[in-house]
Amino acid sequence: MADYIYTMEIRLTPDQLKGVSLVQDISRAAGMNLYLTGGAIRDIISGFTIRDLDFTVQGNPLKLQKELEKAGVRISAVEEDIRTILLLLPGNVRAEISMARTEIYEKTGKPPIVAAATIHEDLRRRDFTVNAMALSLNEGSRGLLLDPFNGVADIEAKLIRILHNYSFLEDPSRLIRATRFAARFHWPLEERTQARYDAAKEAKYIDHILRGSIGHEIAQLAHEDDPLNVVKMLEKEDWLKVLHPHWSTAKIDTNGLGQLMKARQQMVDLGYTPDAGPAVMYFLTSRLTEKDIADLRKQIPRKDLVEAWRDIELHAKELAKRLTGKEAATPSRTWQLLSSARPEMVLFLAVTAKQQAVEQKIKNYLTKWRQVQQRIPLPEMTELLITPQLPEYPKIARDVFMLLLDGKLRSRTETLKFLKPFAPPPPPPPPPPRRGRAAKVAAGATPAPVPAAVPAKKGEVAKGKAKGAVATAAPVVSLSAAAKPEAKSKPKAKPVEAERHPPKPAAKPVAKAAPKKTPVKKAKSKKKR
Ligand code: ATP
Ligand code: MG
Repeated sequence: MADYIYTMEIRLTPDQLKGVSLVQDISRAAGMNLYLTGGAIRDIISGFTIRDLDFTVQGNPLKLQKELEKAGVRISAVEEDIRTILLLLPGNVRAEISMARTEIYEKTGKPPIVAAATIHEDLRRRDFTVNAMALSLNEGSRGLLLDPFNGVADIEAKLIRILHNYSFLEDPSRLIRATRFAARFHWPLEERTQARYDAAKEAKYIDHILRGSIGHEIAQLAHEDDPLNVVKMLEKEDWLKVLHPHWSTAKIDTNGLGQLMKARQQMVDLGYTPDAGPAVMYFLTSRLTEKDIADLRKQIPRKDLVEAWRDIELHAKELAKRLTGKEAATPSRTWQLLSSARPEMVLFLAVTAKQQAVEQKIKNYLTKWRQVQQRIPLPEMTELLITPQLPEYPKIARDVFMLLLDGKLRSRTETLKFLKPFAPPPPPPPPPPRRGRAAKVAAGATPAPVPAAVPAKKGEVAKGKAKGAVATAAPVVSLSAAAKPEAKSKPKAKPVEAERHPPKPAAKPVAKAAPKKTPVKKAKSKKKR
């Protein structure tokens, strides 16, 4: 049997994985059975990007809100009628927790009658076989995959298949969803599903789509990897105007959108995880009127998406202004400013900056200045015992980088001259060997020293330490981590704070070199100033 927990663990991002255990702990404490469901399972198995985490609990997830908030989760929306909460987990991870439920559709165009149910019953109300699976996250059955409609087989066959003949009639938004998934995965509709789809289209079931579903489908577009392709397919199938009567591909800034997706990929390759959603919505609706845009926003359930989209231009302007002011007068200060900005703003400004100076600074930040990191003399730093084990290491590494950026350390010699005073004193020499009676007494009284703890030669100690340091020494990594405030764990938050208020002495390092004998102390007193 496939080990789905293992697959989940290797496929989810570290933040998503943390999100799973957070929700798992809170549900367990509340005595609710929890399952990972829907698209998350489909994407774990199929290998596509996992965009968000869909959880289902047997019980009322609204009761979990307080505990979730205490754990740093943002509640983006609450849908009381279907007992679903939309969340933003730490690290920008989108998720939802819904109550396992049945849906009974009594009248076309009217919301279904919802009742609490078991997970097995819940899976029957889902849209497609590939979305109707659940992975147990409960003690005793953790890792068990519930797949009553053989979704795994349809993933392997790359087919989108409805669960029953009335699927599109009951919920016409599934027509839009079918198109969206077909466009995203390039999977066709299974033959009978296609026949039902065509019949539903012909009979204009779409006229009965619920308003709430429209908002949900609009918001989903923000998170597509290739939104233009999906929107084109929606237009071709006549669904785009269902989302808004004035929406068409002519209203999209296709050029801007293309550039945005490219810049996003570039940032992802650098290790950032910018949420491109608000910017995608901006470009998808660039040529719609303010009123049409306001209409679209009103329907979106996630208010954080709406707000970020609404404010994106304003925030970009503010950042652009700061980038042209004193705060960004030098490369190092520009680096600090951009490192402390939200990655989504850097992304948006990278594509929309009007002033050449701003554009150039962002370009340098994402390309040229990264290469300067390679000029940090790591092997020599290791030889000097300037390794991550030193408490002041992050500051030293950052200072060297900043000075290199500003061209204040122009050669390797200058760089080493700057670094030397920070080298810690060499380890004390080994104690002289004991002789005669004293040695015998000592041997009898105390256990023999552990060889590694009392090295024979000075050089060996240095080497030993250096080896360990090479394995962990990564000023480049720690610098880029400082450039990703949102992805950071708590202890790493300090460098950002420090970057916002760069320590003054770092600007004139060579002249203020500490005397060689007490370099560590000197470095400490530097910090206090
Ligand atoms: P995505 O990758 O776009 O998030 P998804 O399948 O997870 O795809 P969501 O909108 O996040 O889509 O919905 C989560 C799950 O809820 C779906 O996988 C599906 O099981 C169920 N679902 C969502 N909308 C419907 C619907 N209209 N009818 C039936 N089930 C639905
Ligand atoms: Mg989903």
